[in-house]
Formats: sequence, C-alpha cells, structure tokens
Amino acid sequence: MKNTIHAQFTGTIQDYHHFIGPRIKNKICNFTRKNRNTRNGICEHCNTYNKELDSAHIHGKGRRQIIEKVLYNYLNNKIVIIPSLETVEIEILKLHKPIENVVKFLCKKCHNEYDNNIIETRENQGKNLTIQIKKNSKSR
Ligand SMILES: [Zn+2]
Repeated sequence: MKNTIHAQFTGTIQDYHHFIGPRIKNKICNFTRKNRNTRNGICEHCNTYNKELDSAHIHGKGRRQIIEKVLYNYLNNKIVIIPSLETVEIEILKLHKPIENVVKFLCKKCHNEYDNNIIETRENQGKNLTIQIKKNSKSR
C-alpha cells in the first residue's frame, strides 16, 4: 500500500504568507514570466513593442488576495488548518489561470497609468473583465 503523507499547516493567515507565501510567489512568477514571453514585448494596452514588459496585477486580484480567498475555506477561529499544503497550493495556482484574468502585461508607461488611474468595469462578476485606462489624466 502506498504510504501518502500530506504536509500540513496550522497557523494564521499571516503565518501562511510568511512561511509559504514566498514559495507561492515564486511559482506564480515563473508561470507569469512564461506567459509574458508569449506576448513578444507587445503591451496589452497601447500595442507598442517594448524591450521589457511589466506584469501588472489586476486590482482586486493580487496574489495575497487570491491566497486569502482560498485560505478562508480553511479558516476556523482565525486559525487556518490545512490538511494538505499541496492541495491548497494547487487551488491557489488554479485561480491564477487563465493568467489574463489576474495579470496584464503592460509597458512601463501604461503600467504607471494603470496603477494611478484605474477604471474597472466588471461584467459578469469577473468574467469578461475589461480594464480601461484613462488617457491624458492629470499628471502625478
Ligand atoms: Zn503600453
């Protein structure tokens, strides 16, 4: 019989961010980088070519927010009890797919504008999420 031991976790949400968070971050970064490379340097907003593109997390869909969304399912009196770390990790990574739902690949200029002047229009609760960036907004 196969002996399966699941790594477990008990702690606060902050503990999870502290001890497990860096590993999740690393995985998401790798996954994001792969997708960014498929953009061939073309900014999603202005469609210009850039040597390097930034990965801008769509507001409200940051890594921490996604992690916490999953952790709430395991929360009991402010303590997170996870019977299988691997399962939770898979759940968190799944919520990052498709990557277009959580990250936009933007040039530096559009990234700045995005972070400063975001207008979000949500249709269908996150499905068909469209993002517009205000043009010519007042300077920072
Ligand atoms: Zn751009």
